[in-house]
Amino acid sequence: MPELPEVETLVQQLKRRLVGKKIVEVKIVNSKVVDNKIKKIVPVKVIGVRRRAKSIIIELEKGQFLLVHLRMSGHFHYIPKGKTIEADYQRFIVAEFKLSDGSILTHNSIRMFGSMKLVSKKHLDLALERLGPEPLSREFSLSQFKEMISRKKKANVKTVLLDQQFIAGIGNIYAQEALYHAGIDPRRKLGELSTLEVEKLYKEMRRVLVLAIKKKGTTIESYLHIEGVGGFQKHLAVYHCQKCPRGHRLKNLKLGGRSTYYCSKCQK
Ligand SMILES: [Zn+2]
Repeated sequence: MPELPEVETLVQQLKRRLVGKKIVEVKIVNSKVVDNKIKKIVPVKVIGVRRRAKSIIIELEKGQFLLVHLRMSGHFHYIPKGKTIEADYQRFIVAEFKLSDGSILTHNSIRMFGSMKLVSKKHLDLALERLGPEPLSREFSLSQFKEMISRKKKANVKTVLLDQQFIAGIGNIYAQEALYHAGIDPRRKLGELSTLEVEKLYKEMRRVLVLAIKKKGTTIESYLHIEGVGGFQKHLAVYHCQKCPRGHRLKNLKLGGRSTYYCSKCQK
C-alpha cells in the first residue's frame, strides 16, 4: 500500500501535470472506485494538489475536492497530447480524465480497493480531522513527539507508528525501516524507550521518509508513480529482506496482525 513517500511522489507529479488545467471530459469505467458525481461538474479547473497522510487531495474550483485513496494498487498514467493510451495503460482503468491541453490522465486500480470521491470542504475536513501530525511538517517537533509518546506508554512502538491517528502517513514499510535505523526492537512498549531512543526514532523516521521521497517511493509489488517504478527498494534495510545491512539474518513476526521484519542483533 502506498505510504507517505509514494503518495507524496504522486502528488508532486500530479501537481505539475494538472494545476491550472481544466478537466474537460470524464469517462468513468468503475463507479465503485470513482464517484459518478464527478461527471456532473466538468468542465472544472484544477487549483491544487496536496497530500494529507496517505490521501491525495485534488482541489477544484468552487470549493470542490477530489479525495483519493489508492489503497493497495491504485495508480495513474499521464498521456501527453497527441499520444494514444498504450495497451499497458488500458489495463485496470477505472476512470479517464481529458484535460484542457489535450492530455489525458487515467486512474487505474488493479484490485479496485481504492476510492476517488467528490467532496465539499466540510466533508474533506471531516474525513481528515482525526489524523495525527504529519511527520515531515515543520510544526512537528521532537518535543511534540516526546509528548505524544508519553501519553501512550503501554502501546507497542511499531503498532503505534502505523496508527494514523497517532502519526499520519507511515505504514508497514517505513515503520520497520525507521525502527531498524533507530536500533529499536519492534516489540518494545513506548514507555520502555529511553530519551535517546525516542530522539533516534524521531530523527530516523524523518530521515527515512525524506530519502524515500527522493527515491520516489518503494516498488515491491504493484506501486508505480507516473514516471515509472520507485527506487527506495534498493535502500531497504529490513522490509522484505533476508539480512540486515550488517549481514545478520532477519527475523519475522506478526505484530498487530502485520508481518514485521527485524534484526535481533541491531535492534534492542
Ligand atoms: Zn543486524
